[in-house]
Amino acid sequence: MDPHIKQLQLLKLVEEIEGHAIFVLDKNGNIETWNKSAEKIKGYKAEEIIGQNISTFYTNADLMIGLPEKLLAEATVNGTAYNESWRVRKDKTKFWGAVTITALHDDEGNVTGFAKITRDLTERMAAENIIRQHSRELEIKNKEIEQFAYIASHDLQEPLFTVTNLVEFFQTEYQHLFDENANTYLNFIIQATGRMKNLIKNLLDYSHIGSEKKLAKIDCNQLLDTLTTDLANQIKKSGAKISYKNLPVIKGYPTELSQLFQNLISNAIKFRNKNELPKIEVSAIKGPECWRFKIKDNGIGIDPRFKVKIFLIFQRLHDRNEYEGNGIGLAYCKKIVELHGGRISVESNNGKGSSFVFTIPFEPNLLII
Ligand code: ADP
Repeated sequence: MDPHIKQLQLLKLVEEIEGHAIFVLDKNGNIETWNKSAEKIKGYKAEEIIGQNISTFYTNADLMIGLPEKLLAEATVNGTAYNESWRVRKDKTKFWGAVTITALHDDEGNVTGFAKITRDLTERMAAENIIRQHSRELEIKNKEIEQFAYIASHDLQEPLFTVTNLVEFFQTEYQHLFDENANTYLNFIIQATGRMKNLIKNLLDYSHIGSEKKLAKIDCNQLLDTLTTDLANQIKKSGAKISYKNLPVIKGYPTELSQLFQNLISNAIKFRNKNELPKIEVSAIKGPECWRFKIKDNGIGIDPRFKVKIFLIFQRLHDRNEYEGNGIGLAYCKKIVELHGGRISVESNNGKGSSFVFTIPFEPNLLII
């Protein structure tokens, strides 16, 4: 194609291109050309702006630090310069501009001027600001909740401690004076205070999750070796078979991850079928950005209607007489997984076993919980 025609086509393309103000500056930063988008974004017609200096578009604050000159100098030295900041339109309103300045050279390599491309990113910037604002608010709210849980549970310990001591005192000093009924009542009080002590401890532990925040490399095979040794009693008593192999080495918070596996495996043993030995399989597959773990059991299963509820703190589906517990284990698990930036869910049908599935990103990020 005739180079002249090609050049004209290119010029037309630059002229018509949408959303990008594209223009050429001389080596002092004076405007030489102007396209339609430049007119749309900045509000000047070509005849009003050609010959003016780019400093026209800069805020007073940026002029005071000599930003336009600095960017031209940077483009002269490095070939190109990039900057995002507020820019001023003809009507004095501001827009968030993303600016790339590229130096133009003659045959000898001398800078003859600059090509400047400006994009109006005000909308994106506003959307990002809203997200940032929301996540800041969420972070503050979460901190407040954690603080509240910590203070509440910490302060509850004190009066409970007094009650427990006095009840013990009663038992040792006055038991001989009690009749059978009084002894039964006393035992109820002791059991209830014991449960409350446990609840408070769990709540305190829950509010502490992730407070240490020390990332480490964790070999999940080793983690499960240790865990199955720790749970040896439970495993032996229930006759559970736990299988795992080729689990990955992941990046995460060691104490929390161990707690996560422990809760899920303990639950798989606890909620076993009466007429079947518990069979638990731990596996992991590699996704594009995260590991996807699955802990599958052949236990009593979970009604799909309760798939969300079970992850809420203190929510359980069974009476304490049937299966002991206080409904905090899965809330723990959810908090731990989310601390790593992952997600947890359950796949199950009543009576058909359950599979708890969770993801751990290769690069755990500290998302707001
Ligand atoms: P807890 O075990 O103390 O009851 P969790 O938060 O660990 O509390 O579990 C919440 C509820 O989810 C349990 O009460 C139980 O009904 C159900 N659940 C958890 N894990 C399993 C499982 N592997 N199989 C069947 N039900 C389960």
